[in-house]
Amino acid sequence: MAAQPRLLIVEDDAHIRRLLRVAVERAGYAVGEAATAREALSLADIDKPELVLLDLGLPDRDGLELIQLFRVHTGAAVIVVSAREDTSEKVAALDLGADDYLTKPFDTEELLARVRTALRHRVTGEAGRTLVAADDVEIDLERRRVRRSGEDVHLSPKEYDVLAELAKRPDRVIGHRQLLRTVWGPAQENQVDYLRIIVRNLRQKLERDPARPALITNEPGVGYRLVTET
Ligand code: CA
Repeated sequence: MAAQPRLLIVEDDAHIRRLLRVAVERAGYAVGEAATAREALSLADIDKPELVLLDLGLPDRDGLELIQLFRVHTGAAVIVVSAREDTSEKVAALDLGADDYLTKPFDTEELLARVRTALRHRVTGEAGRTLVAADDVEIDLERRRVRRSGEDVHLSPKEYDVLAELAKRPDRVIGHRQLLRTVWGPAQENQVDYLRIIVRNLRQKLERDPARPALITNEPGVGYRLVTET
């Protein structure tokens, strides 16, 4: 059997730290714990975790500063664990290279799904998949083609480009700004309305029930996610 992936939990709240530990240990991961940024950095050096669950509100240092340190020095995936109201913090975390975030209070299943997704991407890299399936929709990134139940779906170039950006990193949240930058260009990175219109069109064309989207889900104030795991 392969070695268990190592996770590092960085959280100063002992109660939340314990909840996180119990959940991921039960799923079979090996776990280290740190309550401060300092502890986290020295433990990361020794333990070489593959994934870090990172609270941003730490007593000795802004958690945002740690994201880049982890990414650069350890190559670990980073999932930020954040309070619900901290939308701008989540956006900043994604911009700094966090793989995803989890909102407190979190659901254990959601936590484990995020961990699996982040670890999988860390192993396979971004460029691996050219065919992405989500429910009855299939996105062929090589041929720029989208099918639904085997039928071609006609998308405008912008619709396709937004969908493709989401499909390149399935099940992970992609920030508004990143989508706008990539699809429209850096000058338009604040035009969230452009994005909203395109996403609404995509939902009309691809969702079973466009009023209750299950394929392209909204992360309020942050971005969108293409859901391929059920
Ligand atoms: Ca905290």
